[in-house]
Amino acid sequence: MSTRAQQYDAQVLRRERLSPHLVRLTLAVDGFVSTGVPDEWVGLVVPGQFQVRYYTVRSYDAGNDEQGDVVLDVVVHEVGLVTEWASGDCVGDTVVVTEPKSSFDLPPDAQWLMLVGDLTAMPAMARIAETSDLPTRVWADVPDVELREDYLPDRAEVTWVDGGLADVVTGLDWPEGPGYFWMAGESADMRAIRKHLMRDRKLPSTAYDVMGYWRAASARQPRAVDPGPIYREGKAAGLSDEEIWAKYDDAQQEARS
Ligand SMILES: Cc1cc2nc3c(=O)[nH]c(=O)nc-3n(C[C@H](O)[C@H](O)[C@H](O)COP(=O)(O)OP(=O)(O)OC[C@H]3O[C@@H](n4cnc5c(N)ncnc54)[C@H](O)[C@@H]3O)c2cc1C
Repeated sequence: MSTRAQQYDAQVLRRERLSPHLVRLTLAVDGFVSTGVPDEWVGLVVPGQFQVRYYTVRSYDAGNDEQGDVVLDVVVHEVGLVTEWASGDCVGDTVVVTEPKSSFDLPPDAQWLMLVGDLTAMPAMARIAETSDLPTRVWADVPDVELREDYLPDRAEVTWVDGGLADVVTGLDWPEGPGYFWMAGESADMRAIRKHLMRDRKLPSTAYDVMGYWRAASARQPRAVDPGPIYREGKAAGLSDEEIWAKYDDAQQEARS
């Protein structure tokens, strides 16, 4: 366990490529306690970085003697902090994982599940679908055909989509009776979907959960200061993490003034 509360030090035990854009990492995490909620996620800080990125706990094995194995399925897209790290040989690296959080909140009277998402949503959709007994339909926009065979459990009725998830949602044929709609993908798209569910479908907020998982480049704020060199210089100079953080804060302040 690291000194900062609610964070765990973890070791990368295994790295396995599931498809061209999806890499499975198995982490050994001391003292990790799962929420048990199927869309639970952790923050991940990779070596030499301060910035956190979020990943769904695809599966968790409590194991013996306080150490559990946490499996994360990481999308490697064009560029990115975690993308670049996970694209290389990261086995043996030490990373920081934050305490898990969750959002999926199934109403007790739900009779069905509808899950919609892109590749980043696949780990959560797979875990939700395999842990529920309700009739489950999935719409997935995934570039990697390799995942179609067995990434999602057989019990789910899956429709593979090639782009245009927003149109899929506006054109959905909704089942009778109470149920639960879960969706994740690009943040601006998800805002539009939430509006549609609220205004057009007039769903109560308890009937759906729509999560922005990543932001497209145009919507992203440029990073004022790259923490990487500050971290490396600080470490080389023998500074503590707190001292390096303080230097990073100063550099950001300077960049803003
Ligand atoms: C609750 C939650 C759970 C998540 N679960 C998962 C998960 O299980 N697996 C997973 O892979 N991701 C998951 N994500 C999404 C992941 O956190 C983001 O995609 C993250 O930005 C990737 O970090 P990066 O360091 O690789 O790229 P960044 O450094 O964050 O971004 C670099 C560039 O890539 C673009 N970019 C970021 N993500 C994507 C993407 N998915 N596709 C195309 N372009 C992108 C950005 O716009 C930016 O221009 C989850 C997010 C949340 C909030």
